[in-house]
Amino acid sequence: MIPITKSSVLLTPGPVPIPQEILERFSQPVIHHRTPQFEKTLEYCLAALARMFDSDHAIIQASTGSGGMESAISNLISPGDEVLCVISGKFGERWARMAEVYGAKVHKLEVPWGEAVELGQFEDSLKKYPKVRVVYSQVCETSTATLHPIQAMGALVKEYSNAIFAVDAITAAGCLALPMRKWNIDVMVAGSQKAFMLPTGLSFIGLNEKAVNVAKTSRSPKYYFSWTEELNANAKVQTYFSSPTTLIMGLETFLRKVEQKGIDLVQRRCEALSEATRKVTLAMGLSLFSKAPSPSVTAIQLPSSINGEKLRDWLESEKGVIVMGGQDHLKGKILRVGHMGDIRDEHMKLFFASLSEGLKTFNFEAKSGYEGILQQICSRAGRLFE
Ligand SMILES: *Cc1c(COP(=O)(O)O)cnc(C)c1O
Repeated sequence: MIPITKSSVLLTPGPVPIPQEILERFSQPVIHHRTPQFEKTLEYCLAALARMFDSDHAIIQASTGSGGMESAISNLISPGDEVLCVISGKFGERWARMAEVYGAKVHKLEVPWGEAVELGQFEDSLKKYPKVRVVYSQVCETSTATLHPIQAMGALVKEYSNAIFAVDAITAAGCLALPMRKWNIDVMVAGSQKAFMLPTGLSFIGLNEKAVNVAKTSRSPKYYFSWTEELNANAKVQTYFSSPTTLIMGLETFLRKVEQKGIDLVQRRCEALSEATRKVTLAMGLSLFSKAPSPSVTAIQLPSSINGEKLRDWLESEKGVIVMGGQDHLKGKILRVGHMGDIRDEHMKLFFASLSEGLKTFNFEAKSGYEGILQQICSRAGRLFE
């Protein structure tokens, strides 16, 4: 027998803690994907996702979030097309790199790490590159824990161009209101291991008719991730290839709970945990990295005397608390704490108590007396699966 992994608390921006009810759904027998039983599940999930996204269509793909992003490149552009990419961290770089790989001419709007897009600059870029076919951005740039003003950006895209507005909402869908129709978002990518409280392995695409039509004529090579073929299969309540039935059954459990209790419960929980994290961080005498913090993930700026990599490893090995460090030039300087998934108040208490002890171990005395703030804000918002 393979030994069972020691339990730990996942406070990362994906993967996230999974509710017991979803884990129990996973333990049910595997079913075949071409059966009436599974078709009912698939039909419900596709419709519920479209309702959640406020979109004309939703697609479920067997891939991680990056596969969802790649499909939003290969289905929306043709070689030589001009695109505009907002680059404010690692994931913005990923949009640009993918678009280059598919032969697009990429215009980059570089935003300093930790800052949100400045709307005046965004507007200037749209005016400067009138031939842009697709505008790509993150909603939340996870590498810097920063939220972009997506509603205002959507309005500007609509005003100044005919481009498709495609957003990576992988750490935003479910964490904040993102009504696609109202906010002029044509394509939205989400991922299962974030606010959907599932393991890694599914990507979700919300898209409107305009995007469906572009996908029909795009000349980038594609076979597995063809939105046109997928939508044709979906119209017959099928997926183009075999469906990952177990994961999609878990998705059904999540979406039914969301439709029963309201998605705002999930959003309020992310908001509360992120607010608690920001306030406690400041109360401990630490600071925040991002100038426009996200409800899904917080970047805690560490004192310069602390080696963040060592502190992160210590939290994992000594306390079983898993958070993420910084990437590239932020390596060792920040800790990124996720607020998605089935996070309990006790997890938050354990994290801050462990952080305080860990900082002390590395000779930094954090201020005490934050417990009241933490308790008060966390208890304000209940969990989707109580
Ligand atoms: C997690 C994440 C992704 C997807 O990563 P995968 O590892 O491919 O699932 C993409 N964009 C953002 C903003 C993310 O947070």
